[in-house]
Amino acid sequence: MGKNHTAGCNKPIEVAFFMDIKSLKIKALKAEAVTKKLFLKLKKLKPSNLDDVFHTLHEEAFEHIDCLNCANCCKTTSPIFTQRDIERLSKLFKISPLQFIENHLKIDDDKDYVLKSAPCTFLGEDNYCSIYDNRPTACREYPHTDRKRMYQLLDLTAKNAAICPAVFEITEKIKKVY
Ligand code: SF4
Ligand code: SF4
Repeated sequence: MGKNHTAGCNKPIEVAFFMDIKSLKIKALKAEAVTKKLFLKLKKLKPSNLDDVFHTLHEEAFEHIDCLNCANCCKTTSPIFTQRDIERLSKLFKISPLQFIENHLKIDDDKDYVLKSAPCTFLGEDNYCSIYDNRPTACREYPHTDRKRMYQLLDLTAKNAAICPAVFEITEKIKKVY
């Protein structure tokens, strides 16, 4: 979702990265208890430099992680589609918003519109997003580690550590800071 179009890697790095994605869930699960404990502390303390630390680690992670070699977020989870997203995309496909909803979306337990199935129907085999310029806001903002008021997004960040290798790296590095 947070497609970070950087220069492509050579083959051995791609293979290593693929294996890393496969083991990400296990590694994140092992680290989860410590992550949650730290995030609980950070939610209470709200360190004044928390956003800066997150943003620096976010930049560092995406200097070497290429979303086009990953797309794990697009393959495994759905963004929320807001009314604005739906209107924009229905215009793009020249169909009514209702038809767009019928074709692609369902309502989840939180009463939000999400994709009917994963991987995302708009994800190409080359990991490119076919609606990139019109993608949902949630896709633009993913993985949310460069947002403001990160203390409000720590639960989400802990969850995303099992999906996004960049978030996992950031959460592991942040343990060395606080
Ligand atoms: S709309 Fe594009 S960026 Fe968003 S989940 Fe689908 S493929 Fe990924
Ligand atoms: S899971 Fe993270 S690294 Fe992978 S494509 Fe999504 S934002 Fe990029």
